[in-house]
Amino acid sequence: MSIPPIVVSHPLAQIHLTALRCKDTTSGQFRWHMHRLAEILFTVASRSLETKAVSVQTPLAECAGQAFARPLVLVPVMRAGLGLSEAILSMVPEAVIAHIGIARDEETALPKPYYAKVPALIGRADVFVLDPMLATGGTACFTLRQLKLAGAERLTFISVVSSPEGLQAMADEHPDVPIITAAIDEGLNEQFYIVPGLGDAGDRCFNT
Ligand code: URA
Repeated sequence: MSIPPIVVSHPLAQIHLTALRCKDTTSGQFRWHMHRLAEILFTVASRSLETKAVSVQTPLAECAGQAFARPLVLVPVMRAGLGLSEAILSMVPEAVIAHIGIARDEETALPKPYYAKVPALIGRADVFVLDPMLATGGTACFTLRQLKLAGAERLTFISVVSSPEGLQAMADEHPDVPIITAAIDEGLNEQFYIVPGLGDAGDRCFNT
């Protein structure tokens, strides 16, 4: 039994998503809205992170507070995932960034890995995999498989737009991984793009 995806329906999330979908949104605006939406999605995705008790000295007295119980690892799936990780890193600057470089074969839509750098502490970390577009699920499933092989146990997947096909692939292979997304769209076209989607997230983010 897989964990049902969480679709973040907060009006702010949906307003940023609408701007991302609009074909007239410029690259600079696209990045800005992607960053704002990333902050909202990460706020939801991190809502049940375990914390530990710490104590701080205010200017007036000692006070009980909280710190993350475990290291945080962000895994942007390149390239488009970088649009999410930049914003999330500014919220949790102590997070470690792992890199998994996977290209999508444009004809088969199968994942083609070209780079991987995963920190040794991944096994004891809370790990967030970031990819704006959960399309076929091939890249997402492959990335999660690599991370589990490297020892990751506590994984969360954050996407902006998900397809039913991608969600099914994730439910089949990684039913233990929660998915946080801003939308579940109609499905994929013949080129494996999400419809209505927002186009090529990497191209739009980086103006290529
Ligand atoms: N990757 C994208 O950038 N967009 C899609 O619609 C599917 C995969």
